[in-house]
Amino acid sequence: AAAVPAAVYMLQDQEAHAAEMERTFIAIKPDGVQRGLISEIVSRFERKGYKLVAIKLIVPSKEFAQKHYHDLKDRPFFNGLCDFLSSGPVLAMVWEGEGVIKYGRKLIGATDPQKSEPGTIRGDLAVVVGRNIIHGSDGLETAKDEIALWFEPKELVSYTSNVEKWVYG
Ligand code: ADP
Repeated sequence: AAAVPAAVYMLQDQEAHAAEMERTFIAIKPDGVQRGLISEIVSRFERKGYKLVAIKLIVPSKEFAQKHYHDLKDRPFFNGLCDFLSSGPVLAMVWEGEGVIKYGRKLIGATDPQKSEPGTIRGDLAVVVGRNIIHGSDGLETAKDEIALWFEPKELVSYTSNVEKWVYG
């Protein structure tokens, strides 16, 4: 058989990776922004090897916060949570990478910082559940819904990062 040029294998690898790429919605809540933790948190996702494809600073309205947390509308803390999310700037982001939805949640740590492992964002940087500094989508469908709620399609930037071949091989 004729030798297949290395470039073709590379293209096939890249296509395989592209098929596995996921996007997740990550937000630094008002407490994380006020405490000056933006660069610390962004840096953890960036250094891991994930790709930032959308980012903006926004103060959500209470109605918007209620939409974002609609799944929790019957919980006793729902009202306070929505007041809190709409109390100041939120850094809304979309991160892309293989397995980023599930592993992003690992980087974030358990919902209650008292139970988050050291080394996780909440474990290292937060103390109580009502001020746990960061949100991350918990599944594929939620990620799609949350990205669509927070961003216009044109705000999502598709681009090739030159380090991808070093992150994925
Ligand atoms: P996660 O943010 O880890 O996905 P949930 O979806 O269960 O967790 O809850 C959403 C947010 O609601 C939490 O991040 C936290 O800010 C808040 N929250 C959850 N449980 C409580 C609670 N018992 N008291 C106050 N706030 C809570």
